[in-house]
Amino acid sequence: MDELTTRVDGMLDDLCAELRRLTRIPSIAFPGYPPEPVTEAHDLVVDLLRDAGVRDIAALRLPDTSPVITGHIPPPHPDAPTVLLYGHYDVQPAGDEALWTTTPFEPTDVDGAIHGRGVADDKSNLIVHVGALRAFDGRPPVGIRIVFEGQEEYGSDFDDYPQAHPDEFACDAMVIADMGNIRPGTGTLTVALRGVVEVIVEVHTLEEARHSGNFGGAAPDALLVLLHALAALHDAKGDVAVPGLRREQWGGGGWSEEEFRRLAGIRDGMPLIGTGNLGSRLWSGPAITVTGLDAPSVERAASAVVPSARAKLNMRCHPAQDPAEAQRLLIEFLEGLRPFGVPLTVTQAGAPGSGFAAATDGVAYAAAHEALRTAWGEDLVHAAAGGSIPLVNSLAAAQPGAEILLFGAQDSMCNLHGPNERVLVSELRDAVVAEAAFFTAYAERFRRG
Ligand SMILES: [Zn+2]
Repeated sequence: MDELTTRVDGMLDDLCAELRRLTRIPSIAFPGYPPEPVTEAHDLVVDLLRDAGVRDIAALRLPDTSPVITGHIPPPHPDAPTVLLYGHYDVQPAGDEALWTTTPFEPTDVDGAIHGRGVADDKSNLIVHVGALRAFDGRPPVGIRIVFEGQEEYGSDFDDYPQAHPDEFACDAMVIADMGNIRPGTGTLTVALRGVVEVIVEVHTLEEARHSGNFGGAAPDALLVLLHALAALHDAKGDVAVPGLRREQWGGGGWSEEEFRRLAGIRDGMPLIGTGNLGSRLWSGPAITVTGLDAPSVERAASAVVPSARAKLNMRCHPAQDPAEAQRLLIEFLEGLRPFGVPLTVTQAGAPGSGFAAATDGVAYAAAHEALRTAWGEDLVHAAAGGSIPLVNSLAAAQPGAEILLFGAQDSMCNLHGPNERVLVSELRDAVVAEAAFFTAYAERFRRG
């Protein structure tokens, strides 16, 4: 392994230069942005892959979707496993440039990090894949299948594609590198993602607003009814009170409370809500957030009983709970409330999104544990992420026998999607070492069975 890390150290300057070159291209695949940079990033990534030994590189073209880059390296012998490598070459828009201390699409070196939009999410991880292949001069000990998306941030028709064309994604393991460590230097495998459900709750009580002096006290105030319903969603300690939602104690690693407070930007003196360890509140238990409320604004408030009100709820559910079931439980709970005897109308908003819970007892996980320890040391953790990634479920459905590994060069503090996005050069280097070491360890363990 010493030989491998020496090789990666020797390649690091070139990899950083290529990352800067790629980051300079504003490949934003959102409506209203020019398509040329997306094509330019695509072409540069194709060149990097070809140089790294990838063959039969092709573009999968779907309607209204930037081309998905595919390619492969055949396994060195028939008994070697194949690893699918995923990443995406599109980026988020820069957002408010006034909040940036550097220019978003001029990658800038600051204290051991490279700053720029998309430098972490997810261009760093494309470079990790390229670097891991280069470490073997394009002849890794495993077969490789490349799937690099070009419209991940905006969303596209590609999400449903793997499930419908499973043969094109045949592999033994996948490295979904759109991820990173819970903190710099702590090797992290993301083993779970919560599911997501959204509903709209509506209350209609009066034909129209009525004078609160003449009618308030007996006429049912729709906003008050809605607030009673919303208040019933959590118990006094802040845990979700909807019965039947799956909740388990989180057994993996995670942030300290202090790290979480800093990451979440919680004001001094504010308590956290809920009980149990942080992981069980953030990752292996349900969370309900009120994300929108339609009611008269304070500015325009009349002295009148409010006739109707509605709220949008976003619920995150246990990685292994069927989100349709979780949604049904939430809707039944709300419909059963009837504050003051007033019925609520509850409808689903959008399709439920499934969570993801990795099977972590296979050969690829054992190899990944070994590889991440090589790169980052003994403190390896299993963590989870709050958001769902639809493509992961589609890939899992396409290849139910493949082990899915989520790790990469990002870290929780890298400001992805926000201003001043950055990647640490040390994390980039260690992620290349981790992936290359994974190829070696996996080939070895796979051969032994
Ligand atoms: Zn991403």
